[in-house]
Amino acid sequence: SNRFDGKVVLITGAASGLGQATALQVAKEGAKLSLVDLNSGALEETKSKIAEAAPNAEVILITANVADEKAVESYVNETVEKFGRIDGFFNNAGIEGKQNPTEDYGIEEFQKVVDINLNGVFYGMKYVLKVMKEQGSGSIVNTASVGGIRGVGNQSGYAASKHGVVGLTRNSGIEYGQYGVSIKAIAPGAIMTPMVEGSLKQMDPDNWEEVGKQFVEPNPMKRFGKPEEVGYLAAFLLSDQANFINATVIPIDGGQSYK
Ligand code: NAD
Repeated sequence: SNRFDGKVVLITGAASGLGQATALQVAKEGAKLSLVDLNSGALEETKSKIAEAAPNAEVILITANVADEKAVESYVNETVEKFGRIDGFFNNAGIEGKQNPTEDYGIEEFQKVVDINLNGVFYGMKYVLKVMKEQGSGSIVNTASVGGIRGVGNQSGYAASKHGVVGLTRNSGIEYGQYGVSIKAIAPGAIMTPMVEGSLKQMDPDNWEEVGKQFVEPNPMKRFGKPEEVGYLAAFLLSDQANFINATVIPIDGGQSYK
């Protein structure tokens, strides 16, 4: 039997990268999906990919900004109206922001990155937890980062937001465990998604693949992770099998965090 038969999974940032890979994985395993992203065109592409990989999957698409609290309340309500429940929530949308040393890091940039990566994750938890508490079950997986566990440099907003995501995970995990709801964060290292490709191209537009190779040289496994590898982890963590994993953060980084 499939782990997600009869289950409803809500995913933000579902139009690309880790969100899309996770959507495909849980759809193949039987999930009904509510997919949220700012980019409606790319959301449609995700839907087509799901239709190929899992023709029977029921999918709704919601164009919304996770940094807009009212929009978050609406995407949660819309999901419950359509499917009646939320079993798994992949609270994943995020941006990297421009890289700069702290003194040159723009204040507006800082606020923008924190608004999306931290406030957006908080709003999502706030509304989804209400639903899951009432159900007496559910799993939330928040996307943090290696940059939420240790310093990486030149990423003030990103580091603050991702450390904050780990904090929210631990705080709410100890509150909601008693209702059968578990909350965890994942901390991906360098995974080759459009986000990472974009930041490599920002560093060196003509030679970004070479830069990419140098970039992973310090990684114990000397390669980028693949979005589908994160999809396997996120699917497990969103499933009932991972219910006892709570208030903690799981790295998926080839060993980078502990080097
Ligand atoms: P991506 O850019 O490929 O996908 C992110 C998606 O989120 C995009 O479709 C984008 O449109 C959407 N999004 C951005 N801002 C949004 C907003 N305000 N509201 C709604 N949707 C929004 O990036 P990715 O690599 O898949 O990143 C997903 C998550 O993983 C992010 O939180 C990122 O910080 C985190 N992460 C990625 C890596 C990596 O190496 N790729 C490493 C660590 C953490």
